[in-house]
Amino acid sequence: MNTSQQTLQEKIAQLKATFINQLPARLEQMQTHIRLLIEDPERYVDVLPELHRAFHSLNGTGKSFGLMDLAALAQEAEALLMQLIEAPELLKNVQWDVQLQQILAQLVVHVNTYNPSAYSSEPLALAVAAVKPINAPIVRSAAPLIYICDDEPEQVDYLAHQLQCFGYQIEHFTQTDMFRQAVLQQRPDAVIMDVFFPQSRTAGTDELTHIKDVTGQQLPAIVLSGSNSFESRLSAVRAGSSAYFVKPARPMDLATVLDELIEDKQEDPYHILIVDDEPAVAQYHSLILENAGMIVHQIYNPTLIFEALNDFSPDLMLVDMYMPVCNGAELAALVRQVPAYVGLPIVFLSNETNTEKQFSAMQAGVEGFITKPVVPSELVSSVRLRAERMRILRSLMAKDSLTGLYNHTTTTEMLVSALASAARVQESVAMVMIDLDKFKSVNDTYGHMAGDQVIVALARLLKHRLRASDVVGRYGGEEFALVLKDINAQAAKVLVDELREDFARISFDSGNQQFTCTFSAGISMYPEYQHAENLRMAADEALYLAKDQGRNRVVVSGLQHE
Ligand code: GH3
Ligand code: MG
Ligand code: MG
Repeated sequence: MNTSQQTLQEKIAQLKATFINQLPARLEQMQTHIRLLIEDPERYVDVLPELHRAFHSLNGTGKSFGLMDLAALAQEAEALLMQLIEAPELLKNVQWDVQLQQILAQLVVHVNTYNPSAYSSEPLALAVAAVKPINAPIVRSAAPLIYICDDEPEQVDYLAHQLQCFGYQIEHFTQTDMFRQAVLQQRPDAVIMDVFFPQSRTAGTDELTHIKDVTGQQLPAIVLSGSNSFESRLSAVRAGSSAYFVKPARPMDLATVLDELIEDKQEDPYHILIVDDEPAVAQYHSLILENAGMIVHQIYNPTLIFEALNDFSPDLMLVDMYMPVCNGAELAALVRQVPAYVGLPIVFLSNETNTEKQFSAMQAGVEGFITKPVVPSELVSSVRLRAERMRILRSLMAKDSLTGLYNHTTTTEMLVSALASAARVQESVAMVMIDLDKFKSVNDTYGHMAGDQVIVALARLLKHRLRASDVVGRYGGEEFALVLKDINAQAAKVLVDELREDFARISFDSGNQQFTCTFSAGISMYPEYQHAENLRMAADEALYLAKDQGRNRVVVSGLQHE
């Protein structure tokens, strides 16, 4: 058993100990409720569901922590209470008070035998070991690091310069041994390797087979070669390269392949929102999912749902069936009524085995049911499967197909939610509208395909150079919108000016002709403009001023006369 699994076991044992420590207080509260009911049976409307929920929760949590005897007793009480809820007239006839008191007394005896300190070190009887930890979440770094190893400086300088404009960080080596040393010091995200090194006895392809990442996997590699021969291509494939380019390679094409190679590795971990009124159970499920590399946010109070959805943007919601305030099915229905969350997968966690109830929950738009106590590996795989499907669907719906950026609708939604959270944490937000200059003439002169290339290049530059928390959207044909969080107007202007200058340096080619392209941008600031629509209009006005003043420039709304 490795260390990360041990710590998971330890953490779960701690949760269990905490749960056990709280049991006497819980039983006391149940006792109070039972007395209340005995003294005043008329109060059954409030008290019965409360008691039922308490025993239900004890049953479920008990099972999750492997306290089967406790769970069995609680289940007995739960069943009795359900009968009473369904037929309150039984309160008059049946010896329910005696029965409940008896169960409670047994529970008390049982709980008194627990020694919480004995549980904190004892390995749990749960199938925790069945969960395989996957790689820790990979944080997206601002600029992917690319090593180019090639002994022809002029060609490489041009390539390096162009790739830098696209937002890559480039290190260039002309000798294989220097390259090898650098790899040992800092592993790049990908490698571009020449095949032929006259001074060296080894071929570039041999170098490739030696470079591995921390998990022992070969680093993404692109071979750059002067030769187009079958043998040369075959040796590159055998060395594990993912792409092969014959010199001179077009930087745009290389950047496209680099993007694909690096993108896969930087897959965001799934965001899972757990709603469970029982903190110990929420934490237990959270530990299992976190151990599988997911990011989990827990809420114990269903009324906090909309804030959590907005702040955390989960890929999936794991909801307890029985909760005070509202039950899981009601919560699902509530969430489904908000258009933005119509597609969010909702999975119920419950010790509900009654299929009829499950079916009615399904009708409320629930994706699946997981019965407590969960088998950790099943929880992980069913959550992962559904979250993955959600990601794919969402990206098809939310993203523009040419650039992979957020489309107009999604960008607008994200702007609105960025403003809402900025208002809460009292931060500023910059909205930037970008429009390509004289783009119609680019299309007219070089063709629509060349024009598309320019759009893709700008999209790539923006995506690479901004923080993961920033929003980059394609707002219209040749219009882009940025939502930059926690930044002031000056800093936003400096940033967009840098992007503008770098973009202007990228050279595009169509056939034999090379050309460059520029953009203009307008910036407006929250809280200066409070509403999304006003903010966008102000950015648009600033953009028009930038066009008016000669294009290829950035104008900040309100600062244009300074
Ligand atoms: P200005 O500097 O004033 O913005 O001039 P402009 O020519 O860029 O502005 P205009 O709005 O007149 O033209 C925009 C052009 O962008 C027209 C349209 O054909 C082109 N365009 C829009 N979407 C795409 C696209 O997806 N691909 C290509 N190739 N062109 C596009
Ligand atoms: Mg336009
Ligand atoms: Mg334009």
